[in-house]
Amino acid sequence: MAPTYEIYALSPGAVTRDWSTRLYLGPVGETTTSAYFLWLLRGPGGPIVVDTGFTPRLCRVKGTAVEQLRTRESLLAAAEVDPGEIKTVILTHLHWDHFDLEGFLPKATFWVQKRELDFWRGAGGRDPWIRRFISDCFDRDLEAIDSSGRLKVVDGNLRLVDGVQLEWVGGHSPGMQIVIVQSATGPFVIANDALTTYRNLRDWAPPAIHLNSIAECLGAMARIKQLAGGDESRICPGHDGEVYKKFPEIKSGMYRLA
Ligand SMILES: [Zn+2]
Repeated sequence: MAPTYEIYALSPGAVTRDWSTRLYLGPVGETTTSAYFLWLLRGPGGPIVVDTGFTPRLCRVKGTAVEQLRTRESLLAAAEVDPGEIKTVILTHLHWDHFDLEGFLPKATFWVQKRELDFWRGAGGRDPWIRRFISDCFDRDLEAIDSSGRLKVVDGNLRLVDGVQLEWVGGHSPGMQIVIVQSATGPFVIANDALTTYRNLRDWAPPAIHLNSIAECLGAMARIKQLAGGDESRICPGHDGEVYKKFPEIKSGMYRLA
């Protein structure tokens, strides 16, 4: 039988945001619960973490007032995972709420798309306005994993291990990748910010943040829909508070997706 994984969303918390920050040219003055996540896959390839979350310090620096912030250490502790022992981390993209190390996950190898690295090492990383999307520790964090041989570059699609597939989609960020995970009940898509919320699919509206291309965003959404067979319960977006209601919370901030 093909290997399968249990899939969990771990949420540090949420903020209230205007819909126009999630849906491109979306309604102004209408608010949504905008949640933050990292993900944990448990299966034969060992625990795999998807994205790193962020420190309370960086959250403050970014002016994001998450109510009752749970730390990533406490979320992983609730899942009975020692961050010091994690070997494999998938980075969906490198924006600050998805990539912030500051010494976290010291033994892990990080899988990133080539186009994401090229962008941030090139034009994106040089532009002061675009840099708002990355951590103030970005250069140091990237250098730390690169110089220690813990940065792995993916160009396109990759079967990381049996049951976990990476797929480049672009759009939201040049090297945005989604993660397709085989669960006991079938394939599940960690769509992350290629979708940001379920409403992007329902209203067929690209994410409000699209550093690369709206056409790529729409292509990504079509691909996510196809992979999940149109079933929202097989998709986890990057910032949707609806995840809190859609999936069972088995411990504080820990949601069982599949
Ligand atoms: Zn994000």
